[in-house]
Amino acid sequence: MKTLMTIAEVRENVKEWKKQGLTVGLVPTMGYLHKGHKSLIEKAHEENDKVVVSIFVNPIQFGVNEDLDAYPRDLENDSKLCEGAGVDIIFHPQATEMYFEDFCTYTDMEKLTHNLCGMSRPTHFRGVCTVVNKLFNIVAPDKAYFGQKDAQQLAVIKRMVRDLNIDTEIIGCPIVREDDGLAVSSRNTYLSAEERKVSVVLSKALQEGRKMLENGEKNAAVVVNAIKAIIEKEPLAKIDYVKIVDSEILEDVETVEKNVLVAMAVYVGKTRLIDNITFEI
Ligand code: AMP
Repeated sequence: MKTLMTIAEVRENVKEWKKQGLTVGLVPTMGYLHKGHKSLIEKAHEENDKVVVSIFVNPIQFGVNEDLDAYPRDLENDSKLCEGAGVDIIFHPQATEMYFEDFCTYTDMEKLTHNLCGMSRPTHFRGVCTVVNKLFNIVAPDKAYFGQKDAQQLAVIKRMVRDLNIDTEIIGCPIVREDDGLAVSSRNTYLSAEERKVSVVLSKALQEGRKMLENGEKNAAVVVNAIKAIIEKEPLAKIDYVKIVDSEILEDVETVEKNVLVAMAVYVGKTRLIDNITFEI
């Protein structure tokens, strides 16, 4: 496994692989890797000859008051996880390698990005689309792997690839959870012991929502309110949003009559956690 910090070196290696007719899978990450990331890497390893993992805390997807500087980093541990999972290249650029000082070209999406996390993070998806588009231009992967954990991101990336004719297949991977149901996240490291216990309320509330949908409840507001009521019982939890949206276009639905995403963002203490389930009809 190689760890490369420059775009030129990555391109050189990929060019050599492509000359040999080998396929390339890309797993974009911000590092501080855990078993959720590992599941993506393993799928990429199964489906491609070569695997590139990018580790880059992308400054332009963080808002001004967000956790860019505090975001956890541990390249040594990340390298071990990648080595063990059969990664060929870690691409770990500095921000200056990715963004010229006078960088001014962005990939912006007019739909799908304003609801859900886009409501409280208005520039987030512009940053995500821009960096992922750049990574696709650098690595030219046959397939790229994204977690359903960030369901809005997955839908947005699929739309970007469709709209811009990017020759990369997007593979969505299921959410990996802790034993008690909490979705694994690099940000879980911010939680105190007490907050960690409280955090299970996200997945518990979603499971209750799923039960209601399975039992035939079609009124989205009824399900959303039941989910909110469960979360509101926890004094340490503060809801950013709970919504039921169309799985593809991510717009709110009043009546559940096609596939939907039940998604939420909840602050536990100062940590903003997200989780979701899909309900298929
Ligand atoms: P991040 O490093 O948090 O930007 O995540 C990189 C990729 O890993 C994204 O596609 C995430 O959706 C995915 N990911 C993060 N956590 C999980 C999880 N618990 N299960 C599945 N995928 C995940």
